[in-house]
Amino acid sequence: MNSLVEAGKAAAEFNMLLQESVRVHGHLCAGQVLGVRMSMLGLREIGIIDPKGANRKSLIVYVEMDRCATDAVQSVTGCSLGHRTMKFMDYGKMAATFLNLKTGRAVRVFARDDSRQKAKDLFPGVENKYAAQIEAYKVMSDDELFNVMEVTVRVSPQDMPGRPMGRVQCDSCGEHVQDMREVCKDGKVLCVPCASGCYYIP
Ligand SMILES: [Zn+2]
Ligand SMILES: [Zn+2]
Repeated sequence: MNSLVEAGKAAAEFNMLLQESVRVHGHLCAGQVLGVRMSMLGLREIGIIDPKGANRKSLIVYVEMDRCATDAVQSVTGCSLGHRTMKFMDYGKMAATFLNLKTGRAVRVFARDDSRQKAKDLFPGVENKYAAQIEAYKVMSDDELFNVMEVTVRVSPQDMPGRPMGRVQCDSCGEHVQDMREVCKDGKVLCVPCASGCYYIP
């Protein structure tokens, strides 16, 4: 009976979190389901119960993709770039690492590649393959969907939330650089774009 009650509670929590992430993201997609499940699993593994309330200063998430699931991770964890609690690692992988700053415990959760095929096999008769995939991701077990890896993450002081660390002027463009992101090159203090090129053309 107790385990049934527990399962019911978990399902209700999942539905509530999914509803909220769909609202934030703008549509229901496989990424929302995976992102919500990934976040619930990651938070549980590192002992974070109330990520947006009591535990909100104990959590940093590293996301390895800038895709639909990233919005779900932000929605569930409350972590964001602006709060410096979400770090974007541009790896193109469906994975995220959840770090408990209080205990130091961190787990990296990544989506198993074989989960795609398993999802396809689960509802073979359903016409709409994408809808079937979404439903499959809702009911598959954590073990079928993800691998969990215990990891160690050392966060540098200049990457922590809180007041900016340092502020210097670039010797080349004159713009200011915060949080020790400056580069020393040939005796000059430079911003990253001046030191190694950038994404825009002035
Ligand atoms: Zn999406
Ligand atoms: Zn510069």
